[in-house]
Amino acid sequence: MDRDQQRQILEFVDRFAREKVAPRAADIDRTGDFPRDLYAAAGKLGLFGLWIPEVFGGSGPNMVTPLLIAERLARDSAAFSLIYSNCGDATAPIVQAASEDLKRAYLPRIASGEIIPAFSLSEPAAGSDAASITTFAERRGDHYVLNGRKAWCTNGAVADVFVVFAKTDRQAGHKGVSAFLVPRDTPGFTRGTDEDLLGLRGSPTTPLFFDDAAIPVDNRLGTEGEGFKVAMTTLDEARLNCAAMAIGVATGALRLAVAYAGERVQFGKPIIQHQGMQFLLAEMTAQLAAARSLWETAMDLLANEHSRRASTYAAMAKLVATEAAMRVTTDAVQVLGGNGLSKAYPVERMMRDVKAFEIFDGTNQIQKMLIGRYLEKQGVPFAVDIG
Ligand SMILES: Cc1cc2nc3c(=O)[nH]c(=O)nc-3n(C[C@H](O)[C@H](O)[C@H](O)COP(=O)(O)OP(=O)(O)OC[C@H]3O[C@@H](n4cnc5c(N)ncnc54)[C@H](O)[C@@H]3O)c2cc1C
Repeated sequence: MDRDQQRQILEFVDRFAREKVAPRAADIDRTGDFPRDLYAAAGKLGLFGLWIPEVFGGSGPNMVTPLLIAERLARDSAAFSLIYSNCGDATAPIVQAASEDLKRAYLPRIASGEIIPAFSLSEPAAGSDAASITTFAERRGDHYVLNGRKAWCTNGAVADVFVVFAKTDRQAGHKGVSAFLVPRDTPGFTRGTDEDLLGLRGSPTTPLFFDDAAIPVDNRLGTEGEGFKVAMTTLDEARLNCAAMAIGVATGALRLAVAYAGERVQFGKPIIQHQGMQFLLAEMTAQLAAARSLWETAMDLLANEHSRRASTYAAMAKLVATEAAMRVTTDAVQVLGGNGLSKAYPVERMMRDVKAFEIFDGTNQIQKMLIGRYLEKQGVPFAVDIG
């Protein structure tokens, strides 16, 4: 895709966000209802097809454009941005590792928005330590029979097809993890009650239960034991996506804060003319600009190479962008004073929404662990000329 095509798509997305998403954002947060009509509208615009090769009904695969879209949607609604971009996180393992038949059966319908995919790795006792999952897939002839429990599945309540990670060898650690595609109507597969969360309300977060759920061997993604690699490759992009959403929300909050500070008068002049307020807004802007630059560098790297260095940059971008977003949205609440805490203004929602970004796709402690491991084994990850 050339720059002109990308610019055109982003202009469509901006209009869609302004006209359809922004007016609904507060209501989606208040009700917690999944906005099916907006999902369908995004499908019609072709936004889901960007992750999917043309031969399977998409217009991709394209890594960078969907990240730019997620950032723009998040300026108005973090929840809808997550609803959109989680489709990419869940589609990546299918594009990467499914058989041709599975791709043909599912990808065109995902591209059109007709069916919704979800990604399920985490379990009640296995979050940061994802290799310790205990959901087990036992091979019985031409089927695998899944037993276990999953937690925190984004879009789980509304999804039609699930990428599920399960052990096929309990003794082999992360090399015993395999990936499977599980349709929602599989007997023995049920879903629990959605979590009632602080933020990102409207994107359902759902526990999943597998009780002798049998799926055909053909629904395995990749070979036995390849699942952890599939999950980790997906997580590199998911981290850039998390950074995208964080930067988008923070950009929205900063704009609101600057506009408010230009209008609100105290001590006889707009508060933006008080030096203390200017310094606060300047710090917010500089932190966000720094996070954005790192995110762009990480996107460029990962678009060109799937290396440890690119993964480390994805981890750094996720860490820096989500911490910047937490600070910027919290400070935006401060800029608005009492109004910052009121649901009449969006900044309190933005502050609640970004907290999850410091937690999912690997907590920020886990990102530091990944960066630390790189330093230990490979040294400083910068390009030679600046390292
Ligand atoms: C809104 C939301 C959506 C999600 N969506 C999905 C999804 O779609 N699919 C999916 O599979 N999962 C999903 N998750 C799960 C998410 O990935 C996990 O919550 C995350 O990996 C952390 O796991 P945990 O919650 O079990 O925390 P824990 O792993 O129990 O961590 C608790 C605390 O201990 C810290 N900690 C853990 N290990 C270390 C260590 N070695 N060193 C230092 N500190 C450590 C953590 O940083 C954290 O602060 C979602 C979570 C949320 C909140």
